[in-house]
Amino acid sequence: MNRRKFLIASSAIASGIIGFRLARGEEAEGRATGYIFVVDVRKCIGCGRCVRACKIENEVPLKPYYFRTWVERYVWLKGEKDLKVDSPNGGFDGFPNIYSEDEVAKSYFVPKLCNHCEDPPCVQVCPVGATYRTPDGVVLVDEKYCIGCRYCIQACPYGARYLYPRDGPRESRRNTADKCTWCYHRITKGYKPACVMACPTGARMFGREDDERILRVLEENSVSVLKPEQGTKPRVFYIGIDSEVR
Ligand code: SF4
Ligand code: SF4
Repeated sequence: MNRRKFLIASSAIASGIIGFRLARGEEAEGRATGYIFVVDVRKCIGCGRCVRACKIENEVPLKPYYFRTWVERYVWLKGEKDLKVDSPNGGFDGFPNIYSEDEVAKSYFVPKLCNHCEDPPCVQVCPVGATYRTPDGVVLVDEKYCIGCRYCIQACPYGARYLYPRDGPRESRRNTADKCTWCYHRITKGYKPACVMACPTGARMFGREDDERILRVLEENSVSVLKPEQGTKPRVFYIGIDSEVR
């Protein structure tokens, strides 16, 4: 079967929404087939199973404030212009129901994680080359070389990184920058990331960019990336979000 190649409809980027068109039958010659992550917020129920699975799989400290992935709740109240955003304990325990149905005009949950940017500012600022992008498009940190300077943490427009604490369970990672790896240790063995496996509704999807199932989802839906104006070219694509989601 011929590989199909993504083309991003640049005219739609201005509105924050990007559309995917597929040049059917076009060979993606000489181009490494990278990974792609899709979040369909219409399916997320805010249960937090992804957050818990990620922490366990990746030895992320259980204390609040340390997350490789987290879930935010966006709520538009009737008659109010400003939206409300919260993420208690990163959504680890799910979300308390603090709004009555009558007052809510619209709401949904937005899972967040590293966007594995094609043009990642975190890689550019690292003074020792500890942060890098793999040929299959995954941004990683080599904890052996990381000096814990935090430049990458400040450079990431998505708040995807944190400094692994000195008392964290993984000794070799202490005082180094940490973030989502798309569970690189799993995906390179052909398994899905832990959060994808844990999601009971299929709100998180992951695969190669020539994966027919993923391509179909992207073809059939309006797709957005977060903060397109930053020019980072995220590899996490969202279905069902408004432009207010940052
Ligand atoms: S989301 Fe942040 S940490 Fe991830 S690649 Fe982009 S800049 Fe780097
Ligand atoms: S892909 Fe792995 S590391 Fe990234 S958020 Fe999901 S479980 Fe965590």
